Amino acid sequence: MTVGVLALQGDFREHLAMLRKIGVDGVEVRDPGQLAGIDALVIPGGESTTIGRLASIYGLIEPIRSRCLAGMPVLGTCAGMIFLASSTAEGDQPQLGLLDACVRRNAFGRQVASFEADLDVVGLDAQMHAVFIRAPWMEKIGADVEVLASVMDDRGVSHPVLVQQGRILATSFHPELTADTRLHEMLVALIEQA
Ligand code: GLN
Repeated sequence: MTVGVLALQGDFREHLAMLRKIGVDGVEVRDPGQLAGIDALVIPGGESTTIGRLASIYGLIEPIRSRCLAGMPVLGTCAGMIFLASSTAEGDQPQLGLLDACVRRNAFGRQVASFEADLDVVGLDAQMHAVFIRAPWMEKIGADVEVLASVMDDRGVSHPVLVQQGRILATSFHPELTADTRLHEMLVALIEQA
């Protein structure tokens, strides 16, 4: 089994290290032709406008969309979540439109642009330590999107930060920046279920 990591911009090397840690072959993906050789895809954190623009220039948007619509599991973290979603609160940027969600970029505000939190995650026994860096949250989600973890903002409003829609997993935070490999293991489990 081989997991591709979209390697256009952002912290794709950290995702490759996580995959190595759980004994899964990871490959950098930059070319549409490489999609044929992978069983799942990770879209890293970084800058979603840059990832979207480069994906569009490299002709990756439609090929990724069709692989995922045909059932390939995908994990998008932070900018990767934004790129997976159908829209952003701020306006237009290239997106895959696979995750039925409207995402607000840099949503946690300037004062708390980056922070860490311990999350209760549906289906996991122990909490997940999560690193948020200029993180987005989900503003509106479709009926098929299951919320697996949320974070409360400073006004006491809860926002989804980890969701699943079929074989799509998306996080506002960066699992690749901690030692916790459980989300990468969840992605691999989705391949095995396919
Ligand atoms: N703020 C970035 C964006 O809008 C995401 C930040 C991240 O991936 N850490 O794309």
